[in-house]
Amino acid sequence: MEISSILQGGYNHPLARQWQAQRQLDKNMLMYPIFITDDPQAEVVIPSLPGQKRWGVDKLEGFLGPLIKKGLKSVILFGVPLNCQKDERGSPADDTEGPVIQAIKKLRTLFPELYIAADVCLCEYTSHGHCGLLHEDGTINTPPSVERIAEVAVNYAKAGAHCVAPSDMMDGRIRAIKLGLMGAGLGNRCTLMSYSAKFASSLYGPFRDAAGSAPSFGNRKCYQLPPAGRGLARRAIIRDVSEGADIIMVKPALPYLDIIASASELAPNHPLACYQVSGEYAMIVAGAKAGVYDLKTMAFESADSMLRAGATLILSYFTPQFLEWLDEEK
Ligand SMILES: [Zn+2]
Repeated sequence: MEISSILQGGYNHPLARQWQAQRQLDKNMLMYPIFITDDPQAEVVIPSLPGQKRWGVDKLEGFLGPLIKKGLKSVILFGVPLNCQKDERGSPADDTEGPVIQAIKKLRTLFPELYIAADVCLCEYTSHGHCGLLHEDGTINTPPSVERIAEVAVNYAKAGAHCVAPSDMMDGRIRAIKLGLMGAGLGNRCTLMSYSAKFASSLYGPFRDAAGSAPSFGNRKCYQLPPAGRGLARRAIIRDVSEGADIIMVKPALPYLDIIASASELAPNHPLACYQVSGEYAMIVAGAKAGVYDLKTMAFESADSMLRAGATLILSYFTPQFLEWLDEEK
């Protein structure tokens, strides 16, 4: 055999196998998505998202305290309003008594070290279930939508969010939010994480179940990207960098590893997040239950694929398990 044929000597030891990674999963890279509802005492199982619950503000201490002890560093909050008066412009989104703002304030007090990101989205708060304001014919009216989304983002930042993360995919909203944060004197205190390449995926089903956010008519295809749209995703990433995003995100993760790789090439100077969405999580859990693979091994394989593609931050429902698994011997 030729010298150049021999590779196995370089990775025959378990430690040497780990050294093959450019980046290894650690606890700082994990952001845990959490559903906050408006009943302060809620602790409600979400059947399609195994192991995850909808939480009330009063339950957050008991829920997150033990995870923080295990090394949880950051969360991203999703509001699930069940008792509010929804309207055309999503007024309850930044209601100071609403679940998200209440949760931000509570978590800042309870856990000063915890990094708190807030998803910014109007879908859960509008009467029509779309992520913006509509024209009379039901199509999205972009300028006032962007203005409203920026207003909500700034109010989350004012409440104490370390990071605001708009998931709406409206044109121009990154610039509007950045200017809004600057105008509120928060430009240097709040991170802007853009869902830059968010695809219209079949993998959001369990999330919609959890958040109660299916649109009342139509779909979100006019603003979420078509799954085959690689060029479009690249343009969206370039745009959001130029509009002032501090972190770029690709969502979902596993079927879009090529887009993560594109993002790491297009935005090499930014942290790069990916969202292992509800359907990816449910799929991995279901496969393990069906005996297709071992859950832990597959969960690590999925995270490693994202890191290999270039991600530096992973939003994952596996976060509590990863915190335990990372303390164990691999
Ligand atoms: Zn939305």
